[in-house]
Amino acid sequence: MYSKYISTGVTFMERYYRYADYLKKKHGEKVYKLPVNLRVSCPNRDGTLGRDGCHFCGEEAAGFENLPAALSVRQQLEKNKAYIGKRYGAKKFIAYFQNFSNTYLPLEELLSYVKEALSVEDLVEIALSTRPDCISEEYITALLALVAEKRPSVRLSFEYGLQTVNYHTLHKVNRGHTLGEFINAVLLSKKYNLEVTAHLILNLPGDERADAVENAKVLSALGVDTVKLHALYIREGTVFARKYKEGELKMIPLAEYVERVILFLEYLSPEIAVQRLLGRAPETGALFVNWDRSWWKIHDLIVAEMVRRNTFQGRRFTYLNGKALHRFA
Ligand code: SF4
Repeated sequence: MYSKYISTGVTFMERYYRYADYLKKKHGEKVYKLPVNLRVSCPNRDGTLGRDGCHFCGEEAAGFENLPAALSVRQQLEKNKAYIGKRYGAKKFIAYFQNFSNTYLPLEELLSYVKEALSVEDLVEIALSTRPDCISEEYITALLALVAEKRPSVRLSFEYGLQTVNYHTLHKVNRGHTLGEFINAVLLSKKYNLEVTAHLILNLPGDERADAVENAKVLSALGVDTVKLHALYIREGTVFARKYKEGELKMIPLAEYVERVILFLEYLSPEIAVQRLLGRAPETGALFVNWDRSWWKIHDLIVAEMVRRNTFQGRRFTYLNGKALHRFA
């Protein structure tokens, strides 16, 4: 469909480094995520940092498609494995602790959940999604010791929600942490050779194109392994919902989102795999979701525009390692 646009050696599929290719390279075959839903909260909701949460956060956070947390970790994994394994012919899996801040637990409790996950066959990785202020050296070393004891072949990885590197925006959306905590979490994880994913929202109110560029630069400088982009969606019951209804919060047009994603990818290191260009969100109870289009249509629109411009991830990745000295090379 878009082949008329292709005039370089870079194909439609190769405009950015896809997560599926990254996983295939790492594990030698296709690997699928099995979501796990824990009864956890978040320090930005339970009163430790605040009670309102981030201004975009709905009650169910990221796990709207998950199995109920009333099921044990093992039950959730086995159920999802049976379904996904049959549907896709999958043989290797990642236990993906997705919802809220999964490491925001007493250490022993967290270890018991991970231990349960490690008892499931065919796992190649445990991925823990959390806030960057909910990880410590003590937690990392204890998790690593557990994995080494129970299933040394399984890898451990972390997903940290950053959303934006813009200090002012983080403050305005009530994140309860700033860029400093994210840098600390990445450096701690890297010290133990763990893989890191960063979450970003490229259209938070207050951010502009320059922030999309700076997001890419900071992630590239830190050497994270993968990134997930999300477009902001407005969920009923959130602070953003109220502001949206009152006309105080305006969403950027889709064309501007496309611009920001392309800019972000152009500045992003080609070594960083991209898990998604925008997320899926539940439409019920939402005031705004992905400009009323399906995520894959927007995805294809972005890639088609990259093809039209003959651009690709990493095209402007020239700024590290003494950029000002390049003239003397
Ligand atoms: S850190 Fe995550 S779970 Fe906590 S309030 Fe923000 S979006 Fe919600």
